[in-house]
Amino acid sequence: MRSVIMHAPGDVRVEKREIPTIIEPTDAIIRVTAACVCGSDLWPYRGAETVDHQPMGHEYVGVVEQIGDQVNNIQVGDFVVGSFVASDNTCEICQAGYQSRCVHAVMMGSIGTQAEYARIPLADGTLVATPGQPDPDLIPSLLAASDVLGTGWFAAVAAEAGPGKTVAVVGDGAVGLLGVLAAKQLGAERIIAMSRHADRQALAREFGATDIVTERGDEGVARVRELTGGLGAHSVIEAVGTQEAMMQAIRSTRPGGHVGFVGVSHGVQLPGDELFFSTVHLHGGPAPVRRFLPELIQLIWDRKIDPGKVFDLTLPLEDAAEAYAAMDERRAIKAMLTF
Ligand SMILES: [Zn+2]
Repeated sequence: MRSVIMHAPGDVRVEKREIPTIIEPTDAIIRVTAACVCGSDLWPYRGAETVDHQPMGHEYVGVVEQIGDQVNNIQVGDFVVGSFVASDNTCEICQAGYQSRCVHAVMMGSIGTQAEYARIPLADGTLVATPGQPDPDLIPSLLAASDVLGTGWFAAVAAEAGPGKTVAVVGDGAVGLLGVLAAKQLGAERIIAMSRHADRQALAREFGATDIVTERGDEGVARVRELTGGLGAHSVIEAVGTQEAMMQAIRSTRPGGHVGFVGVSHGVQLPGDELFFSTVHLHGGPAPVRRFLPELIQLIWDRKIDPGKVFDLTLPLEDAAEAYAAMDERRAIKAMLTF
Protein backbone atom coordinates (compact mmCIF):
# COMPACT_ATOMS: atom_id res chain seq x y z
CA MET A 1 0.00 0.00 0.00
CA ARG A 2 1.03 3.63 -0.39
CA SER A 3 1.86 5.49 2.81
CA VAL A 4 3.29 8.86 3.80
CA ILE A 5 6.72 8.58 5.42
CA MET A 6 8.62 11.51 6.92
CA HIS A 7 12.27 10.63 6.38
CA ALA A 8 13.57 13.72 8.15
CA PRO A 9 12.36 17.26 8.85
CA GLY A 10 11.01 18.74 5.62
CA ASP A 11 11.39 15.42 3.76
CA VAL A 12 7.97 13.86 3.18
CA ARG A 13 7.60 10.98 0.70
CA VAL A 14 4.92 8.54 -0.38
CA GLU A 15 6.27 5.00 -0.31
CA LYS A 16 5.13 1.40 -0.40
CA ARG A 17 4.56 -0.42 2.89
CA GLU A 18 3.01 -3.77 3.76
CA ILE A 19 -0.76 -3.71 4.19
CA PRO A 20 -1.35 -4.05 7.96
CA THR A 21 -2.87 -7.21 9.37
CA ILE A 22 -4.78 -8.04 12.53
CA ILE A 23 -2.32 -8.45 15.42
CA GLU A 24 -4.61 -8.43 18.46
CA PRO A 25 -8.12 -9.94 18.43
CA THR A 26 -9.41 -6.46 19.36
CA ASP A 27 -7.98 -4.87 16.17
CA ALA A 28 -9.75 -3.83 13.00
CA ILE A 29 -8.23 -3.06 9.62
CA ILE A 30 -9.78 -0.15 7.76
CA ARG A 31 -9.41 1.04 4.19
CA VAL A 32 -8.73 4.72 4.71
CA THR A 33 -10.91 6.84 2.40
CA ALA A 34 -9.58 10.25 3.49
CA ALA A 35 -6.79 11.46 5.75
CA CYS A 36 -5.21 14.81 6.44
CA VAL A 37 -2.21 16.72 7.69
CA CYS A 38 -2.41 18.00 11.27
CA GLY A 39 -0.86 21.16 12.66
CA SER A 40 0.97 18.84 15.06
CA ASP A 41 2.56 17.04 12.05
CA LEU A 42 4.32 20.35 11.38
CA TRP A 43 6.35 20.15 14.60
CA PRO A 44 8.58 17.30 13.29
CA TYR A 45 8.36 18.76 9.76
CA ARG A 46 9.95 21.94 11.10
CA GLY A 47 12.52 20.04 13.15
CA ALA A 48 10.95 20.97 16.50
CA GLU A 49 10.52 17.23 17.22
CA THR A 50 12.85 14.45 16.13
CA VAL A 51 11.68 12.32 13.22
CA ASP A 52 13.32 9.43 11.38
CA HIS A 53 11.45 7.48 8.68
CA GLN A 54 8.17 7.86 10.58
CA PRO A 55 4.85 6.75 9.00
CA MET A 56 2.69 9.84 9.41
CA GLY A 57 -0.92 10.69 10.15
CA HIS A 58 -3.41 10.16 12.97
CA GLU A 59 -6.69 11.46 11.51
CA TYR A 60 -8.80 9.11 9.43
CA VAL A 61 -12.15 7.94 8.18
CA GLY A 62 -12.65 4.75 6.28
CA VAL A 63 -14.41 1.47 5.68
CA VAL A 64 -13.86 -1.56 7.90
CA GLU A 65 -12.18 -4.34 5.90
CA GLN A 66 -11.43 -6.90 8.61
CA ILE A 67 -12.13 -7.35 12.31
CA GLY A 68 -10.45 -9.42 14.99
CA ASP A 69 -12.29 -12.22 16.84
CA GLN A 70 -13.10 -10.04 19.83
CA VAL A 71 -14.54 -7.07 17.94
CA ASN A 72 -18.31 -6.86 18.45
CA ASN A 73 -19.49 -3.28 17.94
CA ILE A 74 -18.09 -2.77 14.44
CA GLN A 75 -18.91 -4.79 11.31
CA VAL A 76 -17.00 -5.31 8.09
CA GLY A 77 -18.31 -2.70 5.62
CA ASP A 78 -19.13 -0.06 8.25
CA PHE A 79 -18.02 3.48 7.53
CA VAL A 80 -16.16 4.58 10.65
CA VAL A 81 -14.62 7.60 12.30
CA GLY A 82 -12.05 7.20 15.06
CA SER A 83 -10.07 9.44 17.36
CA PHE A 84 -6.38 10.12 17.02
CA VAL A 85 -5.93 8.05 20.18
CA ALA A 86 -7.13 4.44 20.26
CA SER A 87 -8.86 3.68 23.57
CA ASP A 88 -10.73 0.78 25.12
CA ASN A 89 -13.57 3.10 26.23
CA THR A 90 -14.14 0.87 29.26
CA CYS A 91 -11.42 1.70 31.81
CA GLU A 92 -12.11 4.17 34.63
CA ILE A 93 -10.37 6.99 32.79
CA CYS A 94 -12.36 6.36 29.61
CA GLN A 95 -15.61 6.08 31.54
CA ALA A 96 -14.87 9.46 33.09
CA GLY A 97 -14.61 10.89 29.57
CA TYR A 98 -10.83 11.07 29.17
CA GLN A 99 -10.33 8.45 26.45
CA SER A 100 -7.21 10.22 25.18
CA ARG A 101 -5.54 9.11 28.42
CA CYS A 102 -7.02 5.59 28.44
CA VAL A 103 -4.88 3.16 30.45
CA HIS A 104 -4.49 1.18 27.19
CA ALA A 105 -4.17 4.22 24.90
CA VAL A 106 -2.37 3.82 21.58
CA MET A 107 -1.42 6.99 19.73
CA MET A 108 -2.58 6.57 16.14
CA GLY A 109 0.38 8.66 15.03
CA SER A 110 2.56 5.66 15.91
CA ILE A 111 0.61 3.65 13.31
CA GLY A 112 0.32 6.29 10.60
CA THR A 113 -3.05 6.84 8.93
CA GLN A 114 -1.84 8.83 5.93
CA ALA A 115 -1.91 5.47 4.19
CA GLU A 116 -4.31 3.35 2.18
CA TYR A 117 -4.97 1.00 5.10
CA ALA A 118 -4.59 1.28 8.86
CA ARG A 119 -4.72 -1.08 11.80
CA ILE A 120 -7.00 0.30 14.48
CA PRO A 121 -6.25 -1.10 17.94
CA LEU A 122 -9.12 -1.50 20.43
CA ALA A 123 -11.58 -1.14 17.56
CA ASP A 124 -14.70 -1.53 19.72
CA GLY A 125 -13.69 1.37 21.93
CA THR A 126 -12.05 3.53 19.30
CA LEU A 127 -14.28 3.48 16.22
CA VAL A 128 -17.74 4.93 15.82
CA ALA A 129 -19.79 3.82 12.80
CA THR A 130 -21.79 6.43 10.92
CA PRO A 131 -25.55 5.82 10.57
CA GLY A 132 -24.97 4.61 6.99
CA GLN A 133 -22.61 5.18 4.07
CA PRO A 134 -22.05 8.95 3.97
CA ASP A 135 -22.69 11.19 0.98
CA PRO A 136 -19.30 12.20 -0.47
CA ASP A 137 -19.76 15.84 0.57
CA LEU A 138 -19.93 14.78 4.24
CA ILE A 139 -16.51 13.10 4.19
CA PRO A 140 -14.44 16.24 4.95
CA SER A 141 -16.58 17.05 7.98
CA LEU A 142 -16.48 13.47 9.27
CA LEU A 143 -12.71 13.50 8.83
CA ALA A 144 -12.53 16.77 10.79
CA ALA A 145 -14.36 15.02 13.66
CA SER A 146 -11.39 12.64 14.01
CA ASP A 147 -9.21 15.35 15.50
CA VAL A 148 -9.55 19.05 14.76
CA LEU A 149 -13.28 19.33 15.41
CA GLY A 150 -13.10 17.05 18.45
CA THR A 151 -10.12 18.99 19.75
CA GLY A 152 -11.72 22.39 19.21
CA TRP A 153 -14.86 21.03 20.87
CA PHE A 154 -12.97 19.78 23.90
CA ALA A 155 -11.21 23.14 24.17
CA ALA A 156 -14.56 24.93 24.23
CA VAL A 157 -15.96 22.48 26.80
CA ALA A 158 -12.81 22.77 28.94
CA ALA A 159 -13.09 26.56 28.74
CA GLU A 160 -16.75 26.20 29.82
CA ALA A 161 -18.07 28.06 26.79
CA GLY A 162 -21.83 28.42 27.04
CA PRO A 163 -24.82 30.76 27.18
CA GLY A 164 -24.01 34.23 28.45
CA LYS A 165 -20.28 33.68 28.07
CA THR A 166 -17.71 35.65 26.13
CA VAL A 167 -15.20 33.26 24.57
CA ALA A 168 -11.84 34.33 23.17
CA VAL A 169 -9.90 32.02 20.87
CA VAL A 170 -6.10 32.20 20.60
CA GLY A 171 -4.95 30.55 17.37
CA ASP A 172 -6.50 30.69 13.92
CA GLY A 173 -5.48 27.24 12.69
CA ALA A 174 -8.11 24.58 12.05
CA VAL A 175 -8.47 23.78 15.77
CA GLY A 176 -8.91 27.42 16.77
CA LEU A 177 -11.47 27.95 14.01
CA LEU A 178 -13.39 24.86 15.08
CA GLY A 179 -13.15 26.06 18.67
CA VAL A 180 -15.15 29.05 17.41
CA LEU A 181 -17.69 26.69 15.84
CA ALA A 182 -17.89 24.68 19.07
CA ALA A 183 -18.34 27.78 21.23
CA LYS A 184 -21.18 28.87 18.97
CA GLN A 185 -22.85 25.44 19.17
CA LEU A 186 -22.47 25.47 22.94
CA GLY A 187 -24.38 28.74 23.03
CA ALA A 188 -21.68 31.35 23.70
CA GLU A 189 -22.98 34.90 23.51
CA ARG A 190 -19.88 36.54 22.13
CA ILE A 191 -16.89 34.93 20.41
CA ILE A 192 -13.66 36.83 19.88
CA ALA A 193 -11.37 35.23 17.28
CA MET A 194 -7.74 36.30 17.35
CA SER A 195 -6.39 36.26 13.80
CA ARG A 196 -4.50 38.48 11.40
CA HIS A 197 -5.32 36.56 8.20
CA ALA A 198 -8.30 37.76 6.16
CA ASP A 199 -9.30 34.28 4.92
CA ARG A 200 -9.20 32.80 8.43
CA GLN A 201 -11.09 35.77 9.86
CA ALA A 202 -13.80 35.20 7.25
CA LEU A 203 -14.11 31.52 8.18
CA ALA A 204 -14.11 32.41 11.89
CA ARG A 205 -17.04 34.76 11.26
CA GLU A 206 -18.83 32.07 9.27
CA PHE A 207 -18.37 29.66 12.20
CA GLY A 208 -19.81 32.21 14.65
CA ALA A 209 -17.14 34.74 15.67
CA THR A 210 -18.67 38.09 16.60
CA ASP A 211 -15.40 40.02 16.99
CA ILE A 212 -11.94 39.77 15.44
CA VAL A 213 -8.78 40.83 17.23
CA THR A 214 -5.71 41.16 15.01
CA GLU A 215 -3.25 42.13 17.75
CA ARG A 216 -1.09 39.50 19.43
CA GLY A 217 0.71 39.12 22.74
CA ASP A 218 0.18 41.90 25.27
CA GLU A 219 -1.57 44.05 22.68
CA GLY A 220 -3.97 41.21 21.96
CA VAL A 221 -4.64 40.84 25.69
CA ALA A 222 -5.29 44.58 25.99
CA ARG A 223 -7.75 44.43 23.09
CA VAL A 224 -9.68 41.49 24.62
CA ARG A 225 -9.86 43.35 27.94
CA GLU A 226 -11.09 46.45 26.13
CA LEU A 227 -13.86 44.40 24.50
CA THR A 228 -14.91 42.90 27.85
CA GLY A 229 -15.20 45.97 30.04
CA GLY A 230 -11.64 45.57 31.32
CA LEU A 231 -12.37 42.14 32.82
CA GLY A 232 -11.18 39.63 30.26
CA ALA A 233 -13.16 36.81 28.65
CA HIS A 234 -15.03 34.19 30.68
CA SER A 235 -13.64 31.41 28.52
CA VAL A 236 -10.44 31.31 26.50
CA ILE A 237 -9.36 28.62 24.06
CA GLU A 238 -5.61 28.20 23.52
CA ALA A 239 -4.99 26.34 20.25
CA VAL A 240 -1.32 26.97 19.49
CA GLY A 241 0.96 25.53 22.19
CA THR A 242 3.64 28.23 22.42
CA GLN A 243 4.67 30.31 25.42
CA GLU A 244 3.26 33.47 23.85
CA ALA A 245 -0.09 31.87 23.06
CA MET A 246 -0.46 30.28 26.50
CA MET A 247 0.33 33.52 28.32
CA GLN A 248 -1.96 35.42 25.96
CA ALA A 249 -4.74 32.96 26.86
CA ILE A 250 -4.19 33.17 30.63
CA ARG A 251 -3.94 36.96 30.60
CA SER A 252 -7.07 37.30 28.44
CA THR A 253 -9.13 35.35 30.98
CA ARG A 254 -11.02 37.11 33.76
CA PRO A 255 -10.57 36.02 37.39
CA GLY A 256 -12.71 32.92 37.88
CA GLY A 257 -12.70 32.22 34.15
CA HIS A 258 -11.56 29.10 32.33
CA VAL A 259 -8.77 28.39 29.88
CA GLY A 260 -9.13 25.33 27.63
CA PHE A 261 -5.70 24.59 26.22
CA VAL A 262 -5.26 22.11 23.39
CA GLY A 263 -2.26 23.39 21.43
CA VAL A 264 0.45 20.73 21.80
CA SER A 265 2.70 22.38 24.37
CA HIS A 266 6.24 23.17 23.21
CA GLY A 267 8.53 24.78 25.76
CA VAL A 268 5.71 26.42 27.73
CA GLN A 269 6.76 27.49 31.24
CA LEU A 270 4.12 29.01 33.49
CA PRO A 271 5.30 31.60 36.02
CA GLY A 272 3.88 30.47 39.37
CA ASP A 273 3.32 33.91 40.82
CA GLU A 274 1.34 35.11 37.83
CA LEU A 275 -0.61 31.85 37.72
CA PHE A 276 -1.38 32.22 41.44
CA PHE A 277 -2.82 35.72 41.09
CA SER A 278 -4.61 35.02 37.78
CA THR A 279 -7.32 33.03 39.62
CA VAL A 280 -8.19 31.16 36.43
CA HIS A 281 -9.05 27.51 35.82
CA LEU A 282 -6.68 25.68 33.49
CA HIS A 283 -7.86 22.52 31.78
CA GLY A 284 -6.55 20.94 28.63
CA GLY A 285 -4.34 18.35 27.05
CA PRO A 286 -4.81 15.83 24.24
CA ALA A 287 -8.52 16.03 23.53
CA PRO A 288 -10.66 13.02 24.44
CA VAL A 289 -12.24 13.17 20.99
CA ARG A 290 -13.93 9.78 21.48
CA ARG A 291 -16.15 11.32 24.20
CA PHE A 292 -17.67 13.69 21.66
CA LEU A 293 -17.68 11.56 18.49
CA PRO A 294 -21.26 10.21 18.61
CA GLU A 295 -22.67 13.72 19.12
CA LEU A 296 -20.39 15.31 16.51
CA ILE A 297 -21.12 12.63 13.90
CA GLN A 298 -24.86 13.19 14.39
CA LEU A 299 -24.53 16.98 14.05
CA ILE A 300 -22.59 16.45 10.79
CA TRP A 301 -24.99 13.76 9.56
CA ASP A 302 -27.94 16.10 10.15
CA ARG A 303 -26.01 18.88 8.37
CA LYS A 304 -26.19 21.16 11.39
CA ILE A 305 -22.47 21.90 11.30
CA ASP A 306 -19.98 21.95 8.44
CA PRO A 307 -16.51 21.70 10.02
CA GLY A 308 -15.10 20.31 6.75
CA LYS A 309 -14.80 23.90 5.57
CA VAL A 310 -11.40 24.06 7.29
CA PHE A 311 -10.02 21.94 4.44
CA ASP A 312 -9.05 24.56 1.89
CA LEU A 313 -6.70 22.24 0.03
CA THR A 314 -7.44 18.71 -1.21
CA LEU A 315 -4.71 16.68 -2.84
CA PRO A 316 -4.22 13.05 -3.83
CA LEU A 317 -2.08 11.05 -1.40
CA GLU A 318 0.77 11.14 -3.94
CA ASP A 319 1.09 14.90 -3.39
CA ALA A 320 1.45 14.66 0.40
CA ALA A 321 4.75 16.58 0.30
CA GLU A 322 2.94 19.56 -1.20
CA ALA A 323 0.18 19.25 1.43
CA TYR A 324 2.80 19.56 4.19
CA ALA A 325 4.57 22.45 2.45
CA ALA A 326 1.33 24.36 1.93
CA MET A 327 0.42 24.07 5.61
CA ASP A 328 3.95 24.84 6.75
CA GLU A 329 3.96 28.02 4.66
CA ARG A 330 0.42 28.81 5.82
CA ARG A 331 -0.82 28.77 2.25
CA ALA A 332 -3.45 26.30 3.46
CA ILE A 333 -5.39 26.12 6.72
CA LYS A 334 -5.67 22.34 6.49
CA ALA A 335 -4.94 19.85 3.74
CA MET A 336 -6.99 16.75 3.02
CA LEU A 337 -5.47 13.73 1.31
CA THR A 338 -7.66 11.58 -0.92
CA PHE A 339 -7.06 8.07 -2.25
ZN1 LIG B 1 -9.67 3.26 28.65
